Amino acid sequence: MLDPHDIELPRKILIGRGVIKSVGEVAKSLGLSGKAYVLLGRTGYNLAAKDALDSLTACGFDVVDDGDKDEEGLLKRVFEAKPDFVVSVGGGTTIDLGKYAAFRLGVPFISVPTAASHDGIASPMVSLKILKTPYSIKAKPPMAIIADVSVIINAPHRLLASGCGDVLAKLTAVRDWRLAHMLKNEYYGEYAASLAEMSARLVMKNARLIGAHKEEGVRVVIEALVSCGVAMCIAGSSRPCSGSEHLFSHALDTIAPTPALHGEQCGVGTIMMAYLHGIDWRKIKKVLKVIGAPTTAKELGIEDEFIIRALVEAHRIRPRYTILGDTGLTWEAAEKLARVTEVIE
Ligand SMILES: [Zn+2]
Repeated sequence: MLDPHDIELPRKILIGRGVIKSVGEVAKSLGLSGKAYVLLGRTGYNLAAKDALDSLTACGFDVVDDGDKDEEGLLKRVFEAKPDFVVSVGGGTTIDLGKYAAFRLGVPFISVPTAASHDGIASPMVSLKILKTPYSIKAKPPMAIIADVSVIINAPHRLLASGCGDVLAKLTAVRDWRLAHMLKNEYYGEYAASLAEMSARLVMKNARLIGAHKEEGVRVVIEALVSCGVAMCIAGSSRPCSGSEHLFSHALDTIAPTPALHGEQCGVGTIMMAYLHGIDWRKIKKVLKVIGAPTTAKELGIEDEFIIRALVEAHRIRPRYTILGDTGLTWEAAEKLARVTEVIE
């Protein structure tokens, strides 16, 4: 038991077509006022950003928008501006930057994802290069999440497939959590674990719709990612969503010269960790293929050697007990694991 168990959740989640035009109204309905600092993603001032900015202005907010690529400079300006709340309109890094800035300033954050590429869109966690940890740290969950299906459906399929890898990762993450509970008496929350697992099952069930990039499929992925974020809010940590497969992905980020997307690496990690857990790794691999996500080192664009090294190093990334144990895999065992699951040839 975590005692007291303090759960902080998002207050408003809006998923649908055209909802990006209601960012201002949502902020107003949550009692926000004054200055809104809006962080824009890599694509900068696009149609989605315009809709979000216009709706904030129309609702009488004092709006500042900023699409700088330099993370440090951008954070500095947000801190100096002292906004009453922060809004991120963009992908993973933009969401995390806004979430982190709002957390540091102690003001509310509104998450407006333009892609469904990972579960940070609704979670209390942030992962940023400038924080200098290879894994995510805890901040606060967004006060509101506004996920416009008509915007997200236009993002490249690769990003959606990556989001699915991040959701399927929950199959092994939850098993790692249970293991840590049984072997190390770590706190385990059945409710958060079930929610994370259910999200993965729903993505598996809808793999064809997702693979075909159908709107119903896109909605399933958005809802699954939001549910995973909520599962982390309930657990009070990233435990239900991040296990050995994430350690593998974080290790690859530090080892591989050109890492793939977070969710893509997690998906491949899930195949291998599922094998270690004795669950149906073939099925996970098949689902990832149907979705159009990478399942091999070659498809990740990463050399075999880095895959093996990441497997060997993964347990050292952070103190988090998983199927990799306290001492991790030997080189030979790691190579065998990657080969038997056909991640390397
Ligand atoms: Zn993740």
